[in-house]
Order: sequence, then structure tokens, then C-alpha cells
Amino acid sequence: MKLGMSKQNNMRNKIVAGNWKMNLGISDSIELVQKIIFDKHKDSQRVIIAPPLTNLYRLGQLLDLNNSKIELAAQNFYFPKAGPFTGEVSAEMLLEIGVNIVIIGHSERRTYFFEDDQVLFRKAQSALAHGLEIIYCIGETLAERKAETHLDKVKSQLDDLMIKIDKKHWASNSIILAYEPVWAIGTGVTASKQQAQEMHYFIRKLLKETIGSKISQNISILYGGSIKSSNALEIFEQPDVDGGLVGGASLDASSFNSIIESARKTDKR
Ligand code: PEP
Repeated sequence: MKLGMSKQNNMRNKIVAGNWKMNLGISDSIELVQKIIFDKHKDSQRVIIAPPLTNLYRLGQLLDLNNSKIELAAQNFYFPKAGPFTGEVSAEMLLEIGVNIVIIGHSERRTYFFEDDQVLFRKAQSALAHGLEIIYCIGETLAERKAETHLDKVKSQLDDLMIKIDKKHWASNSIILAYEPVWAIGTGVTASKQQAQEMHYFIRKLLKETIGSKISQNISILYGGSIKSSNALEIFEQPDVDGGLVGGASLDASSFNSIIESARKTDKR
């Protein structure tokens, strides 16, 4: 066995999730969605898009109408049930419009909106308790990588999640992890396939030691950080990489379709 490789061949399907961030109004969103090529009847992987909040309801209607299997995720929510939280939406509000997935812990939320591990843990807890699936993002800064503290940093971001979240949420695969090195997000610099595999293997090993072997083998760990059509395949081929969280390249239909195609080529089933 090569160092840093999972022993078992996994059966996890590939997931490609597009994070549109604060881009595209309704008409541009509709245009982009209509260009995404994904036929779940033929393909076993998942395709998820996370458009801005204002577009979710309309896009949900459109996807339903077309019987599309593209799934919608929200980029954010706030954990209380309701109340005086200007500008926020709750888990129930997302569920009401048919959105079952939410991204938590993205580095832009951590940096610009000062969301720390405690807040993010509460968000994760609340989202899961409401039946949402979560894409939980973790990753080190450039300074941490240079100081070779990247593994410790990622472990610290995962500790509460692994120890305090009810095991049933891990067992039901309601948690997707996304390793997104901050230095690779939106920079055009992608982690090498070795760097991605090393971290994904490390995360899976942590899951195995903390939650158990079976769960660790079933949890999907996505890579995010300047994924493009030119590098998706070699990253998705890594044994512990289960797909990607794609920012910039998800805004361009041909790039996103090519990334979906790379996922299809490397899908295990
Ligand atoms: C992201 O925002 O999650 C991301 C990975 O962005 P990009 O692909 O543009 O680096």
C-alpha cells in the first residue's frame, strides 16, 4: 500500500458542487442552469449548485419542472428558529422552498463575516437537527501551510464536529466535508494532487480514529480551490477525493460541464 492511501477501494459516488457566491441574477442563473449537462438516470454522481439566496426559489421551480436531478444548496443560513436577526434566514425557511443542503464554514464566511469554529459548529448542529445536509468547509491559510501546521489546523476545525455531533448524522451521510485550502480559493493556485490526497487521507484517518472505520469510508470529502477543467480529472482520481466544491469555474457552463465529466470518468459505481 502506498503511503497516504486508504486501504479499501471506496464506493463513494463523486459529487460536484458549484458555489456561485454573490454572482448572477435570476435570468443569468436560469441561463446557466439550462446549460448544465447532467442526467442522473445515466450517471451515479451528484451535481449540486449553490446560487445566491434570492435565486433559490425560482431555480427550484425550474429544476422541478424539468425533472432535473441537479440539487440546490444554500450558501448560508442562521441557526435560530426565528427572531430578530436582520438579514438572516433559518433552516426551516430553506426547507420550505425545497432546499435541503447548506454550505457551512466557507473561508469567505470565516474571513469576512467573522464566523468562528464555535458559530460554525452551532450552525452545523442546527442544520443537521432540521434535516439539512451540510457541506462543511475546512482548510488552512498559506501561512499555516508554510509553517507546516496545516494538518493541525484542519484537525482543530474538525474536532467539535467529530466529537460532539451525534454519530447518527455521520452514519446517515448528512455531512459532506470540503477541504478548501484558503490559499487556493479564487487564486488560480490549485493544491497539487499529492497535497490534496495527503490532506484527504489525513481527514479520513481522523474520522476513522474518532468516529469509526465504516463511517470514515462512507463520508464524502470534496476538494475545493481553483478547480478547473484542466486539473479536475487528476484531483478527482485521487483515492480519497470524492469530488469538488467549485467556485469560479462553476459560473461558466462549459468549464462546469467538463468538471462534471471528469467526475463521471472517476465515479466508482
Ligand atoms: C470556493 O469558493 O469554494 C472555491 C473553491 O472557489 P474557486 O473554485 O474559485 O477557487
